[in-house]
Amino acid sequence: MHEFGLCEGILGAVERRAAGRRVSRVRVRVGTLHQVVAPALDQAFAMVSAGGVAEDAGVDLVLVPATCRCRTCGHEGDAEDVLAVCAGCGSPDVELSGGDELTLESIELAANQ
Ligand SMILES: [Zn+2]
Repeated sequence: MHEFGLCEGILGAVERRAAGRRVSRVRVRVGTLHQVVAPALDQAFAMVSAGGVAEDAGVDLVLVPATCRCRTCGHEGDAEDVLAVCAGCGSPDVELSGGDELTLESIELAANQ
């Protein structure tokens, strides 16, 4: 489950931003090319954050699609995975951009510090 690796990275960013304060919620933007499954991410985050400032924090996952541009017909659309083919003409000769980001968008601090 590669979600663990992603969550360790996210947690590091959360802890730096929280600076010792309790965190109740985190919002992360993840490119669809990471193939992250929300329940698996929640579970992995709960495990890596246990005992720290982000223990029991909720995770909001914002999926960011990749853009797929066809070299054959010029069609542009969202791509869900790296094996995308053109939605316009079915050509596999496409260029993907984006979809690989992993960003901590925001954190919400717990009300009672
Ligand atoms: Zn095409």
